[in-house]
Amino acid sequence: MPSLESSIKEELLRLAAEAGFDACGFVSAQTAPHREPFLRWLEAGSHAGMDWLARTPERRTDPRNILPGCQTVIILAKNYFQGGPNRRSSGRIARYAYGQDYHELMFTAMQPVCEHLSRCGGIQKPYVDTGPVLERDFAAASGIAWQDKSTMCLNQKLGTWFFLGTILTTLSIEPDPPARNRCGSCTRCIDACPTQAITAPYQLDSRRCISYLTIENKGSIPLEFRTAIGDRIYGCDECLEVCPWNRFAEASRESRFLMPAAVQSMSLRSLATLSQEEFRSLFRHSPIGRIKRNRFVRNVCVALGNVGTEEDLPVLRDLASGSDALIAEHAAWAIAEIQSRD
Ligand code: SF4
Ligand code: SF4
Repeated sequence: MPSLESSIKEELLRLAAEAGFDACGFVSAQTAPHREPFLRWLEAGSHAGMDWLARTPERRTDPRNILPGCQTVIILAKNYFQGGPNRRSSGRIARYAYGQDYHELMFTAMQPVCEHLSRCGGIQKPYVDTGPVLERDFAAASGIAWQDKSTMCLNQKLGTWFFLGTILTTLSIEPDPPARNRCGSCTRCIDACPTQAITAPYQLDSRRCISYLTIENKGSIPLEFRTAIGDRIYGCDECLEVCPWNRFAEASRESRFLMPAAVQSMSLRSLATLSQEEFRSLFRHSPIGRIKRNRFVRNVCVALGNVGTEEDLPVLRDLASGSDALIAEHAAWAIAEIQSRD
């Protein structure tokens, strides 16, 4: 007869699959295996302007400091891979941001799992990305993925294209064995990074990373990285696109992760002229909406500086003489870049 623990686990796995998750792993609540390297990473300032990461390291590195009595960390993965090449031919957007914002979608999908844990007497705290948990560390410990050399999570079947959801629970559930690292001697992600942000295997300097520079960074994009950003206007997938494990990735069944036609077809010039209202309406349900119009148009200016032509100059001149200092500075830079090419 199966133990109570194993029958709870069986039911949770069934509910997770039914809710559309592609992988689910369990790990005992413990100090995060990479606590020490994480603290050294913070000390070196590699988290750049993401100050929240440094705020409560004792919580972030031990789930028992977030949820008293926490016994198990459950990690859920949802495939967002859309298949095929990047959907925008110019003005690339990172795949995770093609479609609908994943936070709410993941939370809703996690609900039946949390409800079952509650029925079994547990107290839960669910997180998607924003919680104070080193989720990639626990994902590796739970066996669903290994932390790869680009510091992402890699699953043999899903590649790197998946979102993570984390549930802390006071219930004790049988843990899974940790994942085996299968990066081997490969260094493709490190070699492909346009800004050399992966400073060594498993070490990412966010201050150099295009994802950080175009998303989290609220201010000016340092001049030394603008050319390397190329036509990327939101995030960067370079280290993921080159990973050989991603050859095995299959497209997600979730249509809400696809890029809407309006976003797909819009030129860089049209994106640069979006009003506040138009920006809100276009990206209302997208992760892109979170960075607000001025940071987004700042990114579009950099892309125009790198791939734009003379025809883009009038739009850029308008922006360069506008009242938003951040946009104006990046537009002036873009004008100078285009003129130097022509
Ligand atoms: S996301 Fe882009 S910039 Fe950041 S580490 Fe990967 S390749 Fe480098
Ligand atoms: S590109 Fe190579 S080293 Fe980088 S994550 Fe993929 S397998 Fe690992």
